[in-house]
Amino acid sequence: MSSATSPSPPALTQCPGCGGSSLGGSLFLAAQPVILNYRFGSAQEAQNVPRRDLHLRECNSCGLVFNAILDAAAIPYDERYENRQNFSAGFLGMLRDTADSLTGKYLAGGGTVLEVGCGKGDFLQILCRRAQAQGLGYDTSCEHPGPTEDGRITFFQRYVTPEDVAGKLDLIICRHVVEHVPQIGDFMRLLHGISEAGGGAPVYIETPALEWIVEHQAFWDVFYEHCNYFPVNNLRRLAELAGFEVLDHRLIFGGQYQALEIRPAPGGKTAHPGQEPVPGQLETLSGALSASRREVTEKLAQAGAAGGWAIWGAGAKGVSLGNALTDSPPAFVIDSNPSKQGMFLPGTGIRVIAPESPEVKTIPVILVANSNYLPEISATLASLGCQPKLLPL
Ligand SMILES: [Zn+2]
Repeated sequence: MSSATSPSPPALTQCPGCGGSSLGGSLFLAAQPVILNYRFGSAQEAQNVPRRDLHLRECNSCGLVFNAILDAAAIPYDERYENRQNFSAGFLGMLRDTADSLTGKYLAGGGTVLEVGCGKGDFLQILCRRAQAQGLGYDTSCEHPGPTEDGRITFFQRYVTPEDVAGKLDLIICRHVVEHVPQIGDFMRLLHGISEAGGGAPVYIETPALEWIVEHQAFWDVFYEHCNYFPVNNLRRLAELAGFEVLDHRLIFGGQYQALEIRPAPGGKTAHPGQEPVPGQLETLSGALSASRREVTEKLAQAGAAGGWAIWGAGAKGVSLGNALTDSPPAFVIDSNPSKQGMFLPGTGIRVIAPESPEVKTIPVILVANSNYLPEISATLASLGCQPKLLPL
């Protein structure tokens, strides 16, 4: 990888979701690290991560917010890509709840689940174990292709197509994938094709909700890996345009994520089209970002961060915060994921350490990248005898 910011491709003039050509809003961020969920073994290597400019636009027809100058080939989704969050008891609990809800609705008799973009396969393992189901997992960042020891799941280190589907599917899972896919309209039609090939299986999609980012002025939630930002009405609409009908759609994880359950509509047409998009979300977000960044900096200063501070969470939010707050950077980042500990954050080259590390005991201020984990983090620190000031966002 080279550290230079390469020129961006020509800007898209049409929405990759619906094909609409009326675009509004604008949010430009220069020289962003192309990847955040990536393990670098040295600070130098981490600082040399490739960078690209990012330019978000909003489709006036469907409401999709997307990076119009994405260089998709620059993002390496290989084995060193690591975005697991399930080292947190709270997150694991949410995964189990999701698995049980899906089991009750679609896998009461076991059956076969296919996951599009399964990552390292943790959710598929939880779901298949709890549902007594068989699993097929596809992801280019998958580490152990082939059948699992118990023979319950087979992993494939590649993308999936409808031609791969050999028999009836009972459920298709697609978690935290659609925000990474450049041609999202085509991808929704691909999901439709996979579902049809599996006999019309329901599809579960989970992805961040743009409304939460706008409401919380979450500048740390805008980053290069995410080329799409879906308002809730938009995700629904893109599914309907691809020939799906909506079975269920709800906000989860304190409103940060949306969960959409769909299946192919009879005759490919949806009888109840979704609501219209709410325009101007991107404008609201771009107008608020500098003030929001200033606010976090002031909050840190008031808490005494001059004496040293750290970030809790080396996921995308934490890495993004580290890169946005470079004026007085954190001393280190704390994360409970063992495969991130000892690694260095893309862009800043800041070190990731374990909660049990001695340095954690002496740091006066910790910025919590995702406030959903605040109770858990407080409890961990208390059990370690640490009393830093915790700043939730
Ligand atoms: Zn559109």
